[in-house]
Amino acid sequence: MKVNYAGTVSISTLDWTGKAAVTIFFRGCPLRCPYCQNHPYLEGPDLVELDFVKEKIETSKPFVSAVVFSGGEPLMQPAIVPLAEFAKNLGLLVGIHTNGCYPERAAELAERKLVDKFFIDVKAPLDDSELYGKVAGWKEYGEINSVAKKTPEEIIAAVEKTIETADASGLELELRTTVIRDLIGSEEDITSIAAWVSGRVKNKGVTYVLQQGIPEHSLQEDLRKIRVLEREELLKLGEIAKGFLGKVMIRTKEEGEEIV
Ligand code: SF4
Repeated sequence: MKVNYAGTVSISTLDWTGKAAVTIFFRGCPLRCPYCQNHPYLEGPDLVELDFVKEKIETSKPFVSAVVFSGGEPLMQPAIVPLAEFAKNLGLLVGIHTNGCYPERAAELAERKLVDKFFIDVKAPLDDSELYGKVAGWKEYGEINSVAKKTPEEIIAAVEKTIETADASGLELELRTTVIRDLIGSEEDITSIAAWVSGRVKNKGVTYVLQQGIPEHSLQEDLRKIRVLEREELLKLGEIAKGFLGKVMIRTKEEGEEIV
């Protein structure tokens, strides 16, 4: 089996709060979020053997307690299943960063106990398909890597299903929204997302994270000049989310992670 591979960070403390992890980046994603920071990973195949990636995990094993699969979109590729199995057999915890578009694969991993924590994007209010489509770059992506294009409504349905699966599995769960001035992250947007999470997610240990998008590294060129949302602005949004949820954090370039 081949892996469409983008790279490895041998020891990362940024991808799973509180853990040292080896992070494996998968290439390819069905979305084209205008603010995407990992856009060099979106295009083109760079196929490697499964054993090549296993070796990367094994080499880091003495120094880490977890592996994080990120991307791109890791759940897009069948190789995630044997890789997660390999990591679990080595005694590592497994975390998965996902845009939520692959609920079936998330369910398979959860059922087989091959994952310990899901980190799922909630890119926009789940009751606003127009905005969700805009933030996911729906107009910009076509038939990518033979993946059938999902409508914004289908993306939302998949994200909801993935969150439901993660919630029902009782695993650790982080939901995250990346905020970019004038695109996503108004007070109304965050109110709507936090209210949805509060009403639908049963796991009261769920963490909701507001991430500071960095416009200068965006996929979409005209976004690169937009002024970054300041820490104080994120804190204010965090306070709004806190009105609905027990565990809220902000993540900024200046201060890293802070509990609200
Ligand atoms: S930010 Fe969007 S386009 Fe970029 S990897 Fe994540 S889901 Fe894909």
